[in-house]
Amino acid sequence: MTAHIIDGKIISAALRAKVADEVARVVRDHGITPGLAVVLVGSDPASEVYVRSKHKQTQEAGMASFEHRLPADVPQDDLLALIAKLNADPAVHGILVQLPLPKGLDSSAVIDAIDPAKDVDGLNPVNAGRLASGLFALTPCTPLGCIIMAKQVHASLEGMNAIVIGRSNLVGKPLVQLLLNENATVTIAHSRSRDLPALCRQADLVFAAVGKPEMVKGDWIKPGATVIDVGINRTPSPDGGKDKLVGDVAFAEAKEIAGAITPVPGGVGLMTVACLLVNTLRAASAIHGLPKPG
Ligand code: NDP
Repeated sequence: MTAHIIDGKIISAALRAKVADEVARVVRDHGITPGLAVVLVGSDPASEVYVRSKHKQTQEAGMASFEHRLPADVPQDDLLALIAKLNADPAVHGILVQLPLPKGLDSSAVIDAIDPAKDVDGLNPVNAGRLASGLFALTPCTPLGCIIMAKQVHASLEGMNAIVIGRSNLVGKPLVQLLLNENATVTIAHSRSRDLPALCRQADLVFAAVGKPEMVKGDWIKPGATVIDVGINRTPSPDGGKDKLVGDVAFAEAKEIAGAITPVPGGVGLMTVACLLVNTLRAASAIHGLPKPG
């Protein structure tokens, strides 16, 4: 039987609508408009697309959106000065610096400079440490989206065997922490793991965040497992047309074995921006001492 397709379009739209309702309530009851500042350095075409989509969706959710564009050759100190200004600005509750930064800029220093209370990308080591310690933290958006998608299929992840393939600070590591918070049993795999197919076949939940087109094959999947594909890989189209987007999972094969699977495109990618809105609302609520949004 073919797998259930976990539809990022529907789930992200519902999440954005929920955030918009909450934002309207915060504006009405407390006179606070959550605000997100996005900083784009240089003019990388993929980053431009992401920033435009973040701006549009932030406004549609009823939040304030502030865009700051800097040239690729901006001195590091000028970028840090902008971050300091945004840290001090009471209209800004979330700060996101679009990564990757152009060569010559030190992204660790930039991430460190963001006030952890406004770090809606959840990359500041304070938030990473708080997440690992089980404390309130702003959590990277993509892993948050992955958990929401898995929970569309399983109301509880407790006791499930999960494998996370990839251990980046942006996706793999925070995803592992979130899965532990859900009481899943987690294996974290990476480029030095031995016999990845065998590890994968033991998992009820497979999260692929590798950056290798269609690496996870159909016969790596335990029958009935839930597969969440984080990968976004551009591959040349066989007919010489526009590049094709594929995930880290061989979708056509895997969907014949899995119980549920996310497509690429139309899967996790759409959840990432929706979760950025969630984080901005969470940050605004925490900064103003309001209860954690539902
Ligand atoms: P990174 O390159 O930072 O990390 C990749 C991870 O995959 C590393 O931990 C690496 O292991 C591991 N890896 C690489 N090769 C193999 C292999 N052959 N077997 C097992 N593990 C391997 O990538 P990101 O985490 O930033 O992103 C991963 C993917 O997710 C990319 O396709 C990216 O485009 C996509 N992505 C999608 C987002 C979305 O919104 N949907 C958001 C962010 C990323 P090691 O640590 O040993 O090097």
